[in-house]
Amino acid sequence: LRRNPGETEFHQAVREVLESLGPVLVKYPEFADRKIIQLICEPERQIIFRVPWQDDKGVTQINRAFRVQFNSALGPYKGGIRFHPSVYLGIIKFLGFEQIFKNALTGMPIGGGKGGSDFDPKGRSDGEIMRFCQSMMTELYRHLGEYTDVPAGDIGVGQREIGYLFGQYKRITNRYESGVFTGKGLSWGGSRARKEATGYGTVFFTEEMFKARADALDGKTCVVSGSGNVAIYAMEKAMSLGAKVIACSDSNGVIVDKDGIDLELVKQIKEVERRRISAYAEEKKTARYLEDGNIWTVPCQVALPCATQNELNGTDAKTLIKNGVIAVAEGANMPSTPEAIRFFTEAGIAFGPGKAANAGGVATSALEMQQNASRDSWTFEHTEERLREIMVDIHRNCHQTSEEFGAPGNYVVGANIAGFVKVAGAMVAMGVI
Ligand code: NDP
Repeated sequence: LRRNPGETEFHQAVREVLESLGPVLVKYPEFADRKIIQLICEPERQIIFRVPWQDDKGVTQINRAFRVQFNSALGPYKGGIRFHPSVYLGIIKFLGFEQIFKNALTGMPIGGGKGGSDFDPKGRSDGEIMRFCQSMMTELYRHLGEYTDVPAGDIGVGQREIGYLFGQYKRITNRYESGVFTGKGLSWGGSRARKEATGYGTVFFTEEMFKARADALDGKTCVVSGSGNVAIYAMEKAMSLGAKVIACSDSNGVIVDKDGIDLELVKQIKEVERRRISAYAEEKKTARYLEDGNIWTVPCQVALPCATQNELNGTDAKTLIKNGVIAVAEGANMPSTPEAIRFFTEAGIAFGPGKAANAGGVATSALEMQQNASRDSWTFEHTEERLREIMVDIHRNCHQTSEEFGAPGNYVVGANIAGFVKVAGAMVAMGVI
């Protein structure tokens, strides 16, 4: 805490992992001898830089950007870039720290990192977004590389932004290094099913949690927070597996549609027109828009928080439990507060932590790197099937680990321990570096 003052989200993420690790140090004393826990909490490298750019009025704007290269024991640093005004070092460090264990769980050869900027893309023109991305990459490029650090998207960074960032990287380095970025467009090195992967993967994980309880997602009522990349494709896969999704949201309000969310309409509003989710209620009269509403008050059996960190607190958890929730899976990173997780666990709710449940995005990014390395392009079906297999494996690994370490069915414990043991083992093998 003293070493990283004020970084509250980072403290929260570290505490959650460390709380699970007691029994691991008993089984693997070499981890304690080598101070692996202290090492893993300290990023290998942190880069902070200014990003100057001109807005459409010709006024100079200055933002701050970060890249935290947290751990490369298993492979090149890998993790998204976030554009949101709330971004500061503590957010990027929490995301980078979580990414280490998530990436380990995927079974793919990728280390952990994360980046971002306090740039707010809302209301900015296409030209402003492009100029910002170009200026950011003019510094960031020197820290990246297919074998060094491979970013992707996150909140506020989708295919458009990745295009501008990758384009500037290509221009400055004079290298068409496809494997340096994931989440690219299909015609320029992207992977089929990457856009869908995080949301689909979260639902595959949810389905596995149901199977472990001899139940299924089919026929369940579902609520999904957010209406961005993860939320949209979580809704799509949940619907295709027979769930009825009745609510989604953005940071201004909540849409409740008892008929079931019309996903094509959401895609049109969010992906094509880039409007607010309130527009849904203007188009569809069966829907209600709750300005500043709390989505967790909408009764459901399955809750998928897919927006942002700490969006679901203890009170929300109690409300969900009272309303009969059976399963919660985190599409977002750390959306549930520690208190909420405790309530879910005590109530015996199937709870899939983000590290495990949303790992499908980065896993498919690793599949994109694989395709880039072999100059190949897989079909949607093949890529989705690989994603499904990976999510089934992650679920099995977390479940088995939770049993092995005396907390059967506790996926938080299972994910933290399984991810940590893999990275720590590699760190020990590589000596004191
Ligand atoms: P998007 O920018 O596409 O969507 C984010 C959504 O969450 C929007 O609906 C946004 O609403 C909402 N949101 C963001 N901040 C807040 C806030 N402070 N309060 C309420 N709602 C908010 O991002 P993604 O869908 O890519 O990311 C969502 C989450 O999933 C993040 O936690 C991210 O780290 C995580 N994640 C993403 C992966 C990916 O592949 N994209 C991979 C793994 C995890 P608004 O438009 O109003 O801001």
